[in-house]
Amino acid sequence: MSLPHPHDSPGIHAGGRSPRVLFTWAALGLSSILLVGKELLEYLQGRGGVMDLALSIAITGLVATAVINARASGTEVERRNSESESFSRIMRALSRSVSPDAVVEAIVQELGAATDADHVAVVRLRPGSAVLDVTFVSMLPGAPTSNTVMPLRQLEPVEPHHLRELPRPQPDGMSLRLVDGEPTPVWRDDGGVPADPSATANGATASLRRNVRARSRTANSLNNEARAREVADRIAYRLRDAYGLRNTLAAPLQAGGSIAGAIVLSRRTGGIWPEAAIRLLNSAASEASAALARVYSHQAAESEARTDQLTQLPNRRYFDEYCRLLASRRRSTDRVSILAVDVDHFKNLNDQYGHQVGDVVLRSIANAIQFSVREEDVPVRSGGEEFMVLLRNPADGVALEIGERIRHNVRDMDLLDAGVTERVTVSVGVASGQHAGETISDIVERADRALYAAKRAGRDRVVEAWHSDIAQ
Ligand code: GH3
Ligand code: MG
Ligand code: MG
Repeated sequence: MSLPHPHDSPGIHAGGRSPRVLFTWAALGLSSILLVGKELLEYLQGRGGVMDLALSIAITGLVATAVINARASGTEVERRNSESESFSRIMRALSRSVSPDAVVEAIVQELGAATDADHVAVVRLRPGSAVLDVTFVSMLPGAPTSNTVMPLRQLEPVEPHHLRELPRPQPDGMSLRLVDGEPTPVWRDDGGVPADPSATANGATASLRRNVRARSRTANSLNNEARAREVADRIAYRLRDAYGLRNTLAAPLQAGGSIAGAIVLSRRTGGIWPEAAIRLLNSAASEASAALARVYSHQAAESEARTDQLTQLPNRRYFDEYCRLLASRRRSTDRVSILAVDVDHFKNLNDQYGHQVGDVVLRSIANAIQFSVREEDVPVRSGGEEFMVLLRNPADGVALEIGERIRHNVRDMDLLDAGVTERVTVSVGVASGQHAGETISDIVERADRALYAAKRAGRDRVVEAWHSDIAQ
């Protein structure tokens, strides 16, 4: 992604002043020249006294102050404009982001350029896992972006001496320090003057309340925001350690009320980060958090639409999409086998024990199937009391072997807790791709025919397609 540098943006420049501003400057200049000229003339002609000279000097001083003030506020306006333009560009890019990676891409370049950072790191907690995805971008031209993962356990409490170089402003009057190895909030109660020198060791500028009750109360009131900031600081510490960074500025990412990671800026030079950089980072982090929350909730909805809610196995929709994807990438040497599994006399079981017990049995069967297949196989609940397993590149005899394993594992299920005393059995139809031209739905069809052959032959058995095909 390439975005224009913020300083390329149209701001207020000396050459770009409006005619009205120029007119007021001209009027001020002319009146002061007239006034100073008159007073000086009178003084030089001996008609005026020292007061006329003093007045001339005062008027000159007044005009000089006005000029300096105007230049300073012009610079401030220009800086604010460029900051808000950077922010708008980040917002625009974020609104188009449909994946977590796109969210990261949308912010790093702009943020790095607008804050004069040397590096920008975006660290995201991978949903449902114990790892953080780290995208580390150097602002130096041509430097490669590094993508790594960091185990979550690396964020376990860090030692106080590690936090020495953590200058971070505390806009809300709260900071964190380590108490017994655990980060604990410290509240400002003295207008921000550090009363306890040890409190500055972690960059905290707040004083400590020594009252234990007060401390435990503040510990209890550790809110989400503080927790997220604490995690952002730990992430910054780990990045400083891993990449040899010196001066970092971190802001937390939160998605749907939980901690989602952090954005960390780094600079080679020491010193306090400018207020504008802090503001922009905080705003970008909060907008990126909202974008991540949107993307994650979309992904969760998508994944839910592909998951069977009763058994948590993938559903038929997932299976069909998977098959389409597989078909598009399938090489002529790839082999696919399909197992079609159907519970025997399940209607009777429902009638005897009730639908709820039937549901429990279906969940147990799903577990037994999952337990029987290999990592690379795809088991799905294809509907009702029917399941399917797609096997990728099984060696000769493996499909039949897995079919038998499923049959035995279902037969051996202990359902006494659910009140079911008799054995539950399944019939399995097995079909393997016989030539490269055969589509996956052809194989599924043959597996179904083999399944019905197994039913006809008395149930609780595994039948391979070519036998049944011959029998047809
Ligand atoms: P067969 O051995 O020929 O397969 O007999 P069957 O009784 O298993 O087959 P049938 O198609 O007659 O009945 C399937 C039953 O599965 C009927 C339906 O109520 C039940 N069923 C389908 N989905 C669910 C479910 O989600 N929960 C429960 N408890 N039962 C379900
Ligand atoms: Mg059925
Ligand atoms: Mg059945």
